[in-house]
Amino acid sequence: MSNNPVPSENPLLNLGFKIPFDRIRPEHAEPAVDTLLALTQEKLDALAGAPARNFENFMADLDTLTEQLSTVGTIVHHLDSVMSSDEWKAAVEAIIPKTSEFYTKLSLHPGLWQALKAYSETDEARALDPVQARLLKLTIDEFRRGGADLPEDRKARLLELNTRLAQVTNTFAKNVLDATAAYELLVPEERLAGVPQRVKDATRRDAEGRGQEGHRLTLHQPVLQPILTYADDRELRRELWEAQQQVGRQEGRDNRPLVREILQLRREKAQLLGFRNFADLVLEERMAGSGDRALAFERDLDAKTRPAFERENAELDAYYRGKAGADAPALEAWDGAYWAEKQRQEKYDFDEEALRPYFPMPKVLSGLFELVGRVFGITVTEAQAPGWHPEVQYYDIHDEAGTHIASFYTDWYPRDTKRGGAWMNAFITGGPKEDGVDPHLGLMCGNMTPPSGDTPSLLSVREVETVFHEFGHLLHHAMSRVPVKSLAGTNVPWDFVELPSQIMENWVTEREALDLFAAHYETGEKLPQDLYERLIAAQNYRAANMAMRQYSFGTADLSLHVEYDPAGDEDPVVLARDIMRQFNPFPLPDDYAMVAQFGHLFSSPVGYGAGYYSYKWAEVLDADAFSRFKQEGIFNRETGRDYVDKILSRGNSDDPAQLYRDFMGRDPDADALLRRSGLK
Ligand SMILES: [Zn+2]
Repeated sequence: MSNNPVPSENPLLNLGFKIPFDRIRPEHAEPAVDTLLALTQEKLDALAGAPARNFENFMADLDTLTEQLSTVGTIVHHLDSVMSSDEWKAAVEAIIPKTSEFYTKLSLHPGLWQALKAYSETDEARALDPVQARLLKLTIDEFRRGGADLPEDRKARLLELNTRLAQVTNTFAKNVLDATAAYELLVPEERLAGVPQRVKDATRRDAEGRGQEGHRLTLHQPVLQPILTYADDRELRRELWEAQQQVGRQEGRDNRPLVREILQLRREKAQLLGFRNFADLVLEERMAGSGDRALAFERDLDAKTRPAFERENAELDAYYRGKAGADAPALEAWDGAYWAEKQRQEKYDFDEEALRPYFPMPKVLSGLFELVGRVFGITVTEAQAPGWHPEVQYYDIHDEAGTHIASFYTDWYPRDTKRGGAWMNAFITGGPKEDGVDPHLGLMCGNMTPPSGDTPSLLSVREVETVFHEFGHLLHHAMSRVPVKSLAGTNVPWDFVELPSQIMENWVTEREALDLFAAHYETGEKLPQDLYERLIAAQNYRAANMAMRQYSFGTADLSLHVEYDPAGDEDPVVLARDIMRQFNPFPLPDDYAMVAQFGHLFSSPVGYGAGYYSYKWAEVLDADAFSRFKQEGIFNRETGRDYVDKILSRGNSDDPAQLYRDFMGRDPDADALLRRSGLK
């Protein structure tokens, strides 16, 4: 890049607490990263070569070694996700290879690994306090899992395996994307009877934009799902369902052989590192602990849900027979969503859109802040700081003693330059220090229904849950009191990280909590009781089918990564199909190959591989932990204090299973989730 600013004028190298977003430009990114990489490399070599080591000058320095580099990386990636441009994309592309090369070298730095081992054998290391000892143990485990302790020839083989895994999983992802993008079906308006107007409009505009006639249907979820759910034309539903099944197995884009190869590579890598299988390698530091335990978790839930699943399927079949006649053909996979939606409308007469006027964004936020004030004792107030866009807002959080513990940015509405979805992220990790606390800094972003004209942003109930969810992640960061930064806040194992976020969603549908944030945007009227009751009744509709779908993915994932032998003759695609059949209410064809498009498992070297169970695992944790609030009062300040002290403020400073036991006095109880879903 031309025109490199000198470092002292580069705002990314002079961040401060209030990040100068008004001055940061794409051209600052690469020089800042170059400067920090050189600086970090110097520190790294000094650490590895230090003559005498103690916790302060070795472990603590290692803990914060990459702090500045990663903050700058976070800011650059963040700005590309919220204010994307060719310049920001180029800045990200320029820094990615440099930083990923640095992190790979760091994890295999022979001098650092030797220094770490030498330090771990000192008397001081044996007498560390529990949090410091945990940092040492987790750091050593991570280096081991990265291969630092292997002899040279095996290290070389590990690198080969990692390189090949990156290539094959990348091809897998690309095949799915390309096959999905390559499909289109043009249909005239009359074939879309039953489909919502907004989908008809969008598919017509899509066709028009390409100079085509009629409506352009694709396999993207915002088109596929409404067609399968609402289209009266059964042939159309079948055609799209079958087209979707082709993804991942067409000639030239066939992922079926790749599934076996990925499983082989992962198994070999795990065994090279001393684990029985890939699930045990990945789950070693997670709450589940091993592949066998995660698999047992899935099978237990499956057994407990199956009776309700069979009941739901019989009910749907009876409903269908009543409407379509006794001689109608049996329900197929492309009929399920359609008839279930018809049954739902008849049973509950409930349209979620009717709730929106009661959820104006400003009221949702002020009610949410009121709620966490009551339960967690914090005060959230709007404050001023430079943002990256005029819509960005900035808030301070103070604790009961009036100490400033954190600040955060919000950026809630869609823009062409912003990526989709909702997310929370951390910019700065603070925490306790000798004379007080350093505040934390984070952010929440979303793509919520925007205000229009004089109407404020009116949220759907799902959007309200999302706001609560992301704020739960934010509080996990903002209320951290962990002195070790890499163990602070949301730096917890994957199957634990959604507990603080998902638990917040429970308050959304509690009547007393809802009255804090739900008020009609014109009249100020509270949500009418009959609307509230219909919302609650409809919430658990077909809960067993939704749960079984998740178990089918979780069980297939774990069977492939624990029980399946990639060196044997068995075809993993057939194995996965046979498992999924047991969870599907409708027949699946013999060439069913959903696993060949299952990107969660196979689109990256690790991703959700052996980790799909985490979705349900976290739901068990949040349903169970919230049951204590249900029992002791959803606004109970003492329960809130205990939750903050034992879980929310503790990050990864202790084993998450222990944190959980400290709060609940026992291990998680999966039945809490079944009760909440009305399945028990
Ligand atoms: Zn989340």
